[in-house]
Amino acid sequence: MEKTRLRIAVQKKGRLADDTFALLKATGLTIKENKGGLFYRIKNLPIDLLLVRDDDIPGFVFDGVADLGIVGANVYEEYALKNDNQRRAQCIQKLGFSHCNLCLALPNTEGYADLNDFNDKTIATSYPNILQTYFKKGGISASTLEMHGSVEVAPKLGIADAICDIVSSGATLEANGLQNVKTIFSSQALLLKTTKDLSTEKKDTITKLLSRFEGVRQSKETKYIMMNAPRSALPALTKLLPGAEAPTVMHLEGQKDSIAIHAVCRESVFWETMESLKTAGASSILVLPIEKMLA
Ligand code: ATP
Ligand code: ZN
Repeated sequence: MEKTRLRIAVQKKGRLADDTFALLKATGLTIKENKGGLFYRIKNLPIDLLLVRDDDIPGFVFDGVADLGIVGANVYEEYALKNDNQRRAQCIQKLGFSHCNLCLALPNTEGYADLNDFNDKTIATSYPNILQTYFKKGGISASTLEMHGSVEVAPKLGIADAICDIVSSGATLEANGLQNVKTIFSSQALLLKTTKDLSTEKKDTITKLLSRFEGVRQSKETKYIMMNAPRSALPALTKLLPGAEAPTVMHLEGQKDSIAIHAVCRESVFWETMESLKTAGASSILVLPIEKMLA
């Protein structure tokens, strides 16, 4: 195993891949693509990307085939439970993208009262371990039929009474005459780390990467806000600024009683906030995105 270059397992293509590459690019990594290859080399940091199917990522990270991995919590959890929690890589960060839910769905023609309705039923799913763990907690006894792909057709084919699958917009369920009755697991992309020992070089690269991920996350939410106001309005305006530390106050040339206020707001700035600022005396309010942040 390579001693100095950090290896990160990522989904080769699919619903997690685009957002993963977008995050890595926003983190400043210059990716040298090698179409059809197993690895992409990062030019400006000692990192290689290992391109695989998402289902292989938790195992590769646990075994140390990759040092880090980016995968959906659904896939991570299913793999860990399938292996009796004996092969669970460490999850070191929730990445805040690829949000989706694992849901139980029944044919529209069926009524639904509560979870007990699933007793003695057969449920088609790609996540039998997450589902059985959930049922066990709720005291439900049901069979699972493991399927990979097109789970939603199982009730129509008469091989299952219900399904448990990833839902985002609900369009697939609707197209197949199914109704979502219960969310059993909420997922988002996770950053996994191997439990194997890593070299100092690799640890340093991970520290740098984590700080950059955090910077990307913060800069998405953080805005730079500027406005003019009468000096007397400053205390009221400061109170209204969402998540801002001490604002910068500057005098405006030729205007004795007016000031300019600049602040970094760590929470989203909504139209309502801008309207309140205006009511409190501010004018020429500008809200700007922040491209990069390093605390
Ligand atoms: P692979 O070929 O790598 O095995 P796959 O077909 O199993 O891919 P995808 O459909 O690409 O998987 O989904 C990958 C992951 O993206 C899912 O495990 C889930 O975490 C997340 N995901 C799935 N559907 C959605 C969605 N509609 N919106 C957001 N994230 C989703
Ligand atoms: Zn997969």
